Amino acid sequence: MVQAKSNHWTILAGLVLGCICGLICFWIADFSPSFQQGVIFFSDAIAFPIGQVFLRLLFLVVVPLVFASLAAGLARLGDLPKLGRMGGRTLGFFLLTTSASVAIGLLAMNLIKPGNGFDPQIRQELMTAFADQSAALETSVKSQESPNLMARISRILDEVLPRNVVGAITQMKMIPLIVLAALFGIGLATQPPKRRDAMIDWLDSVSDAMVMIVGMAMKLAPVAVFCLIFVVMGKFGGHIISKLSLYIAVVLGCYCAQLFIFYPIIIRLFARRNPLEFLRGAIPIMVTAFSTSSSNATLATTMRVSERDLGIRPSVAGFVLPLGATINMNGTALFEGCVVLFIAQIFGIDISISQQLLVLLLCVVSSIGVAGVPGGSLPLLMIVMDQVGVPAAGIAIVLGVDRLLDMGRTVVNVMGDVVTAAYVEETERRSELKVG
Ligand code: ASP
Repeated sequence: MVQAKSNHWTILAGLVLGCICGLICFWIADFSPSFQQGVIFFSDAIAFPIGQVFLRLLFLVVVPLVFASLAAGLARLGDLPKLGRMGGRTLGFFLLTTSASVAIGLLAMNLIKPGNGFDPQIRQELMTAFADQSAALETSVKSQESPNLMARISRILDEVLPRNVVGAITQMKMIPLIVLAALFGIGLATQPPKRRDAMIDWLDSVSDAMVMIVGMAMKLAPVAVFCLIFVVMGKFGGHIISKLSLYIAVVLGCYCAQLFIFYPIIIRLFARRNPLEFLRGAIPIMVTAFSTSSSNATLATTMRVSERDLGIRPSVAGFVLPLGATINMNGTALFEGCVVLFIAQIFGIDISISQQLLVLLLCVVSSIGVAGVPGGSLPLLMIVMDQVGVPAAGIAIVLGVDRLLDMGRTVVNVMGDVVTAAYVEETERRSELKVG
């Protein structure tokens, strides 16, 4: 399928303009009630629906796209050992990059200590202001707790192999979808070549049609991204940002280190690509992740751009990217580690090195279960805090700026998947050359 090159720069311009216009308009609105009415009208009646159309187009294609590309990819791979090898490489790399991300976050928090000497009055103010939201999160965590071992095992099974797979998929549960598509693809690989190839052809047509819909959404992207970001800007209180400025700067700095130092090293060393070109090609992915704050909503764009502009074959992209959007959350794990230490520093709780290793482990494990939606990590983060003796209610302190940090961590999450796909692509290609 031949398509025009991605409109990288216009999408990026939409993002930057959306930030600037949103910040300026919502700032002026604080001083002028009539201007405020106009801004709210524009935000609610114009920007919000346009942003939602874009977002929903992207969500619309996720289930058929993931199913068709993963099943076709695995059926094309043909043999189980090959699948095992690719699966091993993917999971190993996911684990490695996620652990390294948490380590980067913990290191920065230990060096800079943004929570030390935090004004107790501001702490109290923030905890009071966001007490309701943190209590709601706590209730949702409690409702997930299962009373006994059997119930807990059933709950895990429900997440992976639900009785009603269609019901689970309609709730956008990705793991059952991946399991079904993988088993279907493996089953298809064992069929006689004529039947198998006909089905692969059919699945490819489904993927291509879905990719065409993503293409339509991406044409809307410059305006839609502007609108999404404009609406989000209205949610940021400048006064909260200034109270947490050092914490925000450290977390954003870690995201940048991950994106512009750690990933480029991996791209150069493991994927043997030019990091600059690679990152430039990935701009539409990063902008979509930033403006939607959702790995799931970004998945269709990630797959389309990776296959079309980053040279990753559909058999690799179809396997690594949906799996990554579900279980590989580098930015989330990094963020969780930062929050645990920040809140501990604020409350004067000493977290020893061995406890920090536990934090690292818990952040890696918990990030696997995080849903790829805005704020998906918050309930699991409270569990991690609880496990290491940091008051979970302290999360209220950072809730007011979470959306800002969520946008950044989603970019890191999604790029972690793309970098892994590039690594798997390179190693698979070399293994095939050796065999060939
Ligand atoms: N918003 C993140 C994502 O979709 C999840 C999170 O950390 O809250 O990747």
